[in-house]
Amino acid sequence: MYKCIECGHLFDEGEEVTWIETHKEYNEPMSGCPLCKSGYKEIEPCKICGVYSDGEIYCEDCKKTVKERFMNLVNANFNRKERSLLNELYDCEPI
Ligand SMILES: [Zn+2]
Ligand SMILES: [Zn+2]
Repeated sequence: MYKCIECGHLFDEGEEVTWIETHKEYNEPMSGCPLCKSGYKEIEPCKICGVYSDGEIYCEDCKKTVKERFMNLVNANFNRKERSLLNELYDCEPI
């Protein structure tokens, strides 16, 4: 999957537009976004749900859900004093 750097359009391999740029000495094959002909980059699907997002390894939805489930787990299993210990041990965002 590719993502346009300019307009953010997502498209598959083969959907990019190609054209030939003519220079004095040679012809240069070009390719670009099917909508705006800008440059594009290859993006990877989210490692958890397989959805293509903004070129991140994990999409925002999965980050949010996993974080929420983790918080629920921690809240259900540790009291406030134990949670502050966890914060010290793992040096993370306050739980
Ligand atoms: Zn574009
Ligand atoms: Zn995901």
